[in-house]
Amino acid sequence: MNKITIIGAGLAGSLLSVYLAKKGFGVNVYERRADMRKENSGGGKSINLALSTRGIHALKEVGMFDEINKIAIPMYGRMIHNLNGETNFQRYGKDDSEYINAVSRAELNKSLMDLAEKNSNVKFHFNERCNGVDFKNAEVTFHNEITDQITKVKANAVIASDGATSAVRMEMLKIPRFDFSQSYENYGYKELIIPAGKNGSYQMEKNSLHIWPRGLFMLIALPNLDGSFTCTLFMAYDKNFGGEKSFEYIDSNDKLNDFFKTNFPDAFAMMPELTENYFQNPTGSLITIKCFPWVAEDKVALLGDAAHAIVPFFGQGMNAAFEDCTYLNECIEKYGEDWEKVFREYQQLRKENADAIADLAQENFIEMRDLVADERFLFKKKIESELFKKYPDRFIPKYSMVTFYRIPYSVALSRGKVQEEILNELSKSKTTLEEIDHEKARSLIMEKLDKLSV
Ligand SMILES: Cc1cc2nc3c(=O)[nH]c(=O)nc-3n(C[C@H](O)[C@H](O)[C@H](O)COP(=O)(O)OP(=O)(O)OC[C@H]3O[C@@H](n4cnc5c(N)ncnc54)[C@H](O)[C@@H]3O)c2cc1C
Repeated sequence: MNKITIIGAGLAGSLLSVYLAKKGFGVNVYERRADMRKENSGGGKSINLALSTRGIHALKEVGMFDEINKIAIPMYGRMIHNLNGETNFQRYGKDDSEYINAVSRAELNKSLMDLAEKNSNVKFHFNERCNGVDFKNAEVTFHNEITDQITKVKANAVIASDGATSAVRMEMLKIPRFDFSQSYENYGYKELIIPAGKNGSYQMEKNSLHIWPRGLFMLIALPNLDGSFTCTLFMAYDKNFGGEKSFEYIDSNDKLNDFFKTNFPDAFAMMPELTENYFQNPTGSLITIKCFPWVAEDKVALLGDAAHAIVPFFGQGMNAAFEDCTYLNECIEKYGEDWEKVFREYQQLRKENADAIADLAQENFIEMRDLVADERFLFKKKIESELFKKYPDRFIPKYSMVTFYRIPYSVALSRGKVQEEILNELSKSKTTLEEIDHEKARSLIMEKLDKLSV
């Protein structure tokens, strides 16, 4: 039986171990942190993620979705909060059958590990930090951060799912002609909390992803099971870029309270722990990482954020990482233990799509923080929804292609661009749906869209 080393027991590594266990491999997963099921990591903080179709598909394949569904909260659309406290709801899908799910990152990760461990051929090793890889021999060096012991582990194949700061990818940088790029946004993020109301009630609509779009910065909030919401403030890092709307500028209680009272008055009223949250929680950075190849010596492959870290604005990082597992699993089904073939096809299938979701995620930041409050944008959304009803197989909204379908991301990107051109053309100097020229729409779809791949 082939032995496989997985580096990183985060979301992707834990899921992958279940896929591989089901194929009968001997799987060893090495994680630099302690076992989160035993340690109370995160200090009770509830950090949640949006889980959608691609991730759900993977969870269903390993038989886990029913379990995760119990802790998932459906979010049917965006709830936009205007400055005057008014809200308006923008549905994500065509009806209530299309929604995204708020899921606790920690609970999901723990459940994946529990499930993986039910297989006798999977073993997790904690506090083991990878600090070197011999690609030719598929041998990884781990440093145990408790005992200080160094262990060298040899396997038939190694899969590095060690996240955006991947140690394995760092090693790959030494390989001649290895392409690598990383770019930081000028924006950072900070997690804050809207606590539950009386008796665990929700202080805002539970089944929505709340957004306070304010042009160059925004606040979002996702519901948790206990009635609270995890909020994330996205804003410029430094004064040079964001002026008074920057993490660097807002460095005192007064400035923070003024900023919230002015820009998010309704949220401010629900955030009694704002100052503690703001000054205690770190400011996270937002990075896009692209690299190639993802495979070294046909024995070691990158997967998930290690291969393609993206900004979080399409809620797809984890979903894309889970989809990597689905594709890798299909390649193993096709080529068995021929790792050269498996890894080459996996990389070929995924690289283009990882690049595409990176671009889509960056585009979506502008949509979320700015456009969702723009009349023109909302009018185009209405036309888009009409065209989708009329041409359900040919004109699928970009958001839906990414979130509710498993259409390759690269196809969603290219079709999305053309659809945007069509919407711009149809909406030019128009303000109501009645004015839309449907004959023109039909011919534009035939001329521009039908020639693209689906
Ligand atoms: C603010 C924010 C919001 C997000 N929201 C969403 C969302 O709504 N939906 C979505 O789909 N995605 C979202 N994401 C992205 C998502 O978090 C990542 O894409 C996902 O966690 C990637 O999974 P991974 O397993 O590749 O990496 P990780 O989850 O980061 O796991 C990597 C693991 O490797 C371990 N590790 C690291 N280095 C070593 C080493 N040297 N040796 C051993 N172990 C190591 C780490 O401890 C960790 O456990 C968001 C990200 C951010 C920052």
